[in-house]
Amino acid sequence: MLARVTQLTRTPPPTSVVWDSALLNYRFNATHPMDPVRLELTERLCRELGVFDAEHVSLTVPGIADDDALATVHSREYIAAVHRASEAGKASTDHGLGTEDTPVFEGIHRGAARIAAGTLGLAEALASGAAVRGVNFAGGMHHASRAKAGGFCVYNDAALAIQHLRHRCGVHAVYIDLDAHHGDGTQQIFYDDADVLTISMHQSGVSLFPGTGFPNETGGPGAEGSAVNIAVPEGTGDAGFLRAFEAVIPAVLRAFEPDVIVSQHGCDSHTLDPMSDLHLSIDAHRLLALRVGELADELCDGRWIATGGGGYAIHTVVPRSWTQLTAAASGAALPKGLAVPGAWRDYVRSTYGVDTPETMDDGADLRFRSWEAGYDPEDDLDRAVIQTRREIFPLWGMDPWFD
Ligand SMILES: [Zn+2]
Repeated sequence: MLARVTQLTRTPPPTSVVWDSALLNYRFNATHPMDPVRLELTERLCRELGVFDAEHVSLTVPGIADDDALATVHSREYIAAVHRASEAGKASTDHGLGTEDTPVFEGIHRGAARIAAGTLGLAEALASGAAVRGVNFAGGMHHASRAKAGGFCVYNDAALAIQHLRHRCGVHAVYIDLDAHHGDGTQQIFYDDADVLTISMHQSGVSLFPGTGFPNETGGPGAEGSAVNIAVPEGTGDAGFLRAFEAVIPAVLRAFEPDVIVSQHGCDSHTLDPMSDLHLSIDAHRLLALRVGELADELCDGRWIATGGGGYAIHTVVPRSWTQLTAAASGAALPKGLAVPGAWRDYVRSTYGVDTPETMDDGADLRFRSWEAGYDPEDDLDRAVIQTRREIFPLWGMDPWFD
């Protein structure tokens, strides 16, 4: 199966991938859109393509994050409320729990703390040198804030990893969130913290949950410039999203000089996803993952932890997107135009009654106009980019018009 994976020309980075079928127990109810089938099908597709088989890739089974670890990003009162809800399995309206979006279920604490332990374990592996890259496609719970659940998220696994790297190793992390929705929870946890840079690219809060993530949210007092928001207009596709990424993110990262990148790759920006009005392709998801990896190579000696996030086209999009992500993060990106294995398509058809695409990407044209070639102040996407550059670039000693 390995022959299907692009041959490497340099030593691949030791990569740790989080997986345990117990991760499927994070399940709100039978009709909730965050259906763990998306994780089951991603893991199955990775296996069919041999993504886990390379010698430099190791699978790691997460434990359950303990309350002391969770308390590095969440309040003790909130953690206690999740425990209470978990034991009773009944609705409580405390701390954002028990809402229509984030209902409670018996075992919600263990389910969420297992996801958190997965990403935290990747931070430990990077800190010890056991891995250079890490992937937890079950993670990316970016709407969980310090004392509040929200948007299907209970414990913020990426924030936990960032705190660990920083407190245990003095490491300077940047968080890059590419989900269709604003990474509001992660931003809130680090908003007053000049040592952690959070960057979120998302559909504007004018037209999408959670209604935040505007360019003028730049960080609290003493931490100005440590929160970066690129709020793209609804309808943005590959060319606009890639153009905006390149116009802001590499420059800000080079100014901040991170030691490690922690990224969130919610794939609900795909054109088939029911939860957003963005029109990205799998090809763009793949390219964005590769670009994050290149930036990690350039600035962080390769160190990069990638998580999943949102993604609600659970058969047709999520497994392909996160298999691409896992392969890209492990330094063995899948070649363009690769066929989806027939055995996997047959399994999805016979088990879920869904016909899935025949190729691992969408055959999209990823050409886009670079920012250096000029911008159009009348264009909605360009206006969004200009707003972010005007807010952020001066705080990092850069010129919003010429850098
Ligand atoms: Zn999302």
